[in-house]
Amino acid sequence: MSWGAAFFYYRCPACGKKFKYGADAIAEFGPQFGLCPGCGVPGDYLFDGPRPPEDMDYEEVDEVIRFERGPLDA
Ligand SMILES: [Zn+2]
Repeated sequence: MSWGAAFFYYRCPACGKKFKYGADAIAEFGPQFGLCPGCGVPGDYLFDGPRPPEDMDYEEVDEVIRFERGPLDA
């Protein structure tokens, strides 16, 4: 069983944005894994696994988010 193509899917409770993180990026993102790329709040976890048919509705977060200001800095 390969986890190479697995993603964790989230929906932001603040802005409603749908996004996903690669399962292999957990180490890279650390505590930022699962945060909304738009506003930086923790997303509501939906599901994980191989790409579902609605995969394209979810923006892939592929680089560590850097916020000028945000809830994490407050
Ligand atoms: Zn958001």
